[in-house]
Amino acid sequence: MAKPDLMERVVNLSKRRGLVFPSSEIYGGFRSTWDYGPVGVLLKRNVKDAWWRTMVQLRDDVVGLDAAILMHPRVWEASGHVQAFTDPLVDCRNCKERFRADHLPESGACPNCGAKGSFTEARRFNLMFETHVGPVEDDASVAYLRPETAQGIFVNFLNVQTTSRKKPPFGIAQIGKAFRNEITPGNFIFRTREFEVMEMEYFVPPEDGPRWYEYWCQERLRWFMDLGIPEDELRLRPHDPDELSHYSTGTSDIEFAYPWGWGELEGVANRTDYDLRRHSEYSGQDLSYYDQDADRRYIPHVIEPALGADRCMLAFLLAAYHEEEVRGEKRTLLRLDPRLAPVAVAVLPLSRNERLNPVAHEVADLLRPRFMIDLDDAGSIGRRYRRQDEVGTPRCVTVDFDTLDDRAVTVRDRDSMSQDRVPIDKLVQHLEEQLSA
Ligand code: ATP
Repeated sequence: MAKPDLMERVVNLSKRRGLVFPSSEIYGGFRSTWDYGPVGVLLKRNVKDAWWRTMVQLRDDVVGLDAAILMHPRVWEASGHVQAFTDPLVDCRNCKERFRADHLPESGACPNCGAKGSFTEARRFNLMFETHVGPVEDDASVAYLRPETAQGIFVNFLNVQTTSRKKPPFGIAQIGKAFRNEITPGNFIFRTREFEVMEMEYFVPPEDGPRWYEYWCQERLRWFMDLGIPEDELRLRPHDPDELSHYSTGTSDIEFAYPWGWGELEGVANRTDYDLRRHSEYSGQDLSYYDQDADRRYIPHVIEPALGADRCMLAFLLAAYHEEEVRGEKRTLLRLDPRLAPVAVAVLPLSRNERLNPVAHEVADLLRPRFMIDLDDAGSIGRRYRRQDEVGTPRCVTVDFDTLDDRAVTVRDRDSMSQDRVPIDKLVQHLEEQLSA
């Protein structure tokens, strides 16, 4: 499939099957904002759960946090965001459109109207959304919507470290909404002004920073592959020195082969001691760590893997989307890893029938506490299989007339379409074996 078509197909499928809708659609939509529908919300939760499981649950050196979106305005002065969280902005003098200067095509032509040499000088544009807290809109009431969750972690470093009694190397993980007034949002849920980010700040002794930076680059790359993104659609790209953020000595992007070319999926940054040092200075609180064993005090260095949940979901969708021909007919399917699939098991009575329905409900009730299920009895069985394939449901369980006699059901595999006959009293165990990693 030509790659630009792939994007269009994934966007269409997302709308048609209840994954992602344009936000405020009945009012004509609202500038690159999107809403997650009944199927999309399940996929996104599974993406976040898979991340949390790997980053927190399966490790004994990482704990979680859920900090507020609104923070003391001094946080963003200390972090450098008020001064330096900017993108270079240019206007096209011909069509008046605005662009990020670092995203312009090499030809120098305006991507909107094609005019050459029409751009103004670049100006710095701060990406933070500003708001006012309380009824008076003066300078004293200014607050920002957080552009990253990391600062909530840094300002809680002491709270978390002392209550969890963790010692470096250890990490604090957080998932939450972030806001950036992007100059050019777009490409569906790839770049939006409101998004969810999954970040982990890993605190290490200063001399160990480079080693842990390498470690996290490899760990994160492995995570995507483990969840089904092919190796040749991923690559690690170290930033050039002039690309580095104001706080970083080393950053690598984990890039994905999007339909429009290679682009950032996740960033892994060595933030050094920048954030803790600055917050120590600005707050007057000592955020250093005393290492009893070595009898020395230091400000930990920080390695940060940061990944957008929405962007990550897009990458999984693009990698999973397949079309194939089955007996002369086109079949569309999402080959999602079962850990990510929105619905794990569909329960399908062969036809709408008053003898089959009670058994289908009985099977559904049996499975519901263990799996996300969808009980669907509308339309022909072939059509229902295709609907489930389209949202990536790994197994379909069909209740047919033989079930009434033999108390067994047919379990159909999404990818191979092979079918097994399984007794109802062995069904939970059978599915658990098949769907666990
Ligand atoms: P870019 O250079 O593309 O603007 P960035 O380098 O500023 O991105 P980071 O600050 O490293 O991005 O953000 C960490 C991760 O958060 C990104 O790798 C991406 O997955 C996600 N992300 C960042 N900005 C957005 C956005 N506007 N919409 C959706 N996801 C985003």
